[in-house]
Amino acid sequence: MKKYDVIIVGAGPAGLMCAETLSQSSMSVLLLEKKELFGDKICAGGLTRKDMALLDVPEEIIEHRIRRTALYAGKRKSSTNAGEPFVFTVNRVEFGTWQKSRLHNTGVEIRNNAKVTQVDDTKIVVNGEEAIGYRYLVGADGYFSAVRKYLGLPQEKRLIGIQYRVPDPQVEPQLEIYLNSKYFYSWYAWKFPHDKSFVIGCAADPRKVPSHQLKANFKKWLTENGVDVSQAKYESYPISYDYRGYRFNDKYFLAGEAAGMASGLTGEGIYQSLVSGLTVAKTILDGNYQSSQMEAVLKYNAVQERILNILWKAGPLRGPIFNLIVALMNNKRVKAKINNSFS
Ligand SMILES: Cc1cc2nc3c(=O)[nH]c(=O)nc-3n(C[C@H](O)[C@H](O)[C@H](O)COP(=O)(O)OP(=O)(O)OC[C@H]3O[C@@H](n4cnc5c(N)ncnc54)[C@H](O)[C@@H]3O)c2cc1C
Repeated sequence: MKKYDVIIVGAGPAGLMCAETLSQSSMSVLLLEKKELFGDKICAGGLTRKDMALLDVPEEIIEHRIRRTALYAGKRKSSTNAGEPFVFTVNRVEFGTWQKSRLHNTGVEIRNNAKVTQVDDTKIVVNGEEAIGYRYLVGADGYFSAVRKYLGLPQEKRLIGIQYRVPDPQVEPQLEIYLNSKYFYSWYAWKFPHDKSFVIGCAADPRKVPSHQLKANFKKWLTENGVDVSQAKYESYPISYDYRGYRFNDKYFLAGEAAGMASGLTGEGIYQSLVSGLTVAKTILDGNYQSSQMEAVLKYNAVQERILNILWKAGPLRGPIFNLIVALMNNKRVKAKINNSFS
């Protein structure tokens, strides 16, 4: 049986970041991806300045550099022009392919169409037939993580994200956020511009809002707002914010959504995945490694969850709170503060 120092399961942002960091060491690393393509993931494809600072994403794969936001609550609207771009949209496959290209000429062995079908304490099995041994195992395999399941960690806190990809040759280069307590409760709808198209979607925790209800509400909202999705592709996928740690017995590690690293309020998870992928790699290389970035991300997620809980408990007051947020966003200083904390 072949054996590696590290096997990373899943080549999303977390797994690729983890592999890239480990590639600078002498460890033997195997990265396994079940799909043909890298980055083939249902997502709105919105990156923030924090992602850009971490990865230096090349110009050619950025579809829009967004400076303008329009925030709506009922009839209220607040528009922002940040001057500098603060959100960047990418096609996730292009982003994943580019991240993978950073592993060219490193010692990392990468395999696609390689699904981990079984996890044991010394080996994993690929596509039901090939056993491969490991010293360290990294689960970067997203929401339905096989490694997380092997570790016996529950998966309770999640959002269901739903979205449409709508063709639009004249898409406006702005981010739109719609606060609407009647349809989206504590969450919101988003619109991200892409290449000759936009992605419009929303998310909610199914323990609070059953998915069929969210879907029906979203449809009503789209109709009321005159958004034609007849030519659009419908997509849906869960998002985990059920964090239970990333390091287990100094042998098993979880990164990204396998670790429940997304935000329960916004559904944002790429930055958290990158930071946790990096942290896991550095922890494997140095067992005493302490990551201030990881601490900051966990704190950020905790704050977002607190906001989410406050909004949930607010019940019928959510509508007036949303109106107030939009009114406050028309104040320059508040606007700058909120924009900074979210990007
Ligand atoms: C509708 C929606 C919109 C979103 N929009 C945004 C956004 O705009 N910005 C943002 O920051 N976040 C967004 N997110 C969240 C973001 O997509 C995820 O948080 C992020 O992709 C998580 O990265 P990851 O590397 O942890 O996992 P993933 O990107 O899910 O990657 C995991 C990889 O593991 C592979 N894999 C799974 N199981 C196995 C196995 N058994 N064997 C081998 N490989 C396996 C998968 O094929 C996949 O490639 C959105 C999510 C949804 C659902």
